[in-house]
Amino acid sequence: MTETRVYDLHTHTFYSDGALAPAELVARAATNGVQVLALTDHDVTDGVPEAQAAAQQAGITLVPGVEISVTWGAQTVHIVGLQIDIAHPGLQAGLARLREFREWRADEIGRRLAKAGIPGAIEGARALAQRGLVSRTHFAHFLVAAGHAADVRGVFKKFLVHGKPGYVPGQWAGLDEAIGWIRAAGGQAVLAHPARYKITATRLRKLLGEFRDAGGAAIEVVSGSHSRDDMFRFAQLASSYGLLASSGSDFHGPHNYYMDLGPLPPLPDGCTPVWQTWAANATTVDDLLARAPTVNEAADTDGGSAENAGATFPPVIV
Ligand code: AMP
Ligand code: MN
Ligand code: MN
Ligand code: MN
Repeated sequence: MTETRVYDLHTHTFYSDGALAPAELVARAATNGVQVLALTDHDVTDGVPEAQAAAQQAGITLVPGVEISVTWGAQTVHIVGLQIDIAHPGLQAGLARLREFREWRADEIGRRLAKAGIPGAIEGARALAQRGLVSRTHFAHFLVAAGHAADVRGVFKKFLVHGKPGYVPGQWAGLDEAIGWIRAAGGQAVLAHPARYKITATRLRKLLGEFRDAGGAAIEVVSGSHSRDDMFRFAQLASSYGLLASSGSDFHGPHNYYMDLGPLPPLPDGCTPVWQTWAANATTVDDLLARAPTVNEAADTDGGSAENAGATFPPVIV
């Protein structure tokens, strides 16, 4: 079957550091032509049920997801989980632990910024965190509003990255751990925006090798934060490591106009899409109706065939 669906498999809502509510995210995705949307908030899945309900209304497919913060050596890397069972206790216990660290880290960032002569940052960041999870993005928005930098990028550079006054080293999940949680919850692990990590080519190969050996399934080849060159480079790397390719905007909100939902380039030739194994290549309401058993088939409730007559919903991985 020729793949004609439009996928965006990396997005955020205000349950983490995005600007929109799940229903707003889904509405924007549908308007922009996205047919299969993954919600992948940082270290939390609370927005998924609202997004599922909205997606059903809008006639698009919602893939339950998460973006897990991982500490790999001195580096923070992000592992997206797709098609996860958000009710899985092991996954939720892991995410809860990361959110606890987040809480402590938020206070610590606040203390460090106060020492550097910027009072009130933790209160400011918390006020912007609409659902309680505090991200550096919230600090960044507060610091811009308080006039400490011209824009969010500037704040990160000046205050929130390694060697700057508000930097607190991560103590996130281990790489194996995060991949383990995702797999235990029935999902696929995807290395997010690999071009964004400031590591040498040698370290990158080490990361890709460890990621694959730990059971990682895919890397983001197309990403809102990848250049065209990055895209082709990671398409090659995916092939040579035997990894599938994913595609996601990393949309955080309408202010980030260069990372909007929808208009992503197609995966380069030679990539195997992460969604190729998803059983329900058709799970929109229209697709379900199109696949619904005919009257005669539907009447055949005693035989085994009726069980297989309809599409599975939600999609299962085969
Ligand atoms: P946290 O998980 O709280 O450490 O925050 C990480 C988030 O900050 C990322 O997911 C991005 O949304 C955002 N971020 C990180 N670095 C930058 C940057 N240089 N400019 C803008 N946003 C950034
Ligand atoms: Mn973010
Ligand atoms: Mn990320
Ligand atoms: Mn993200």
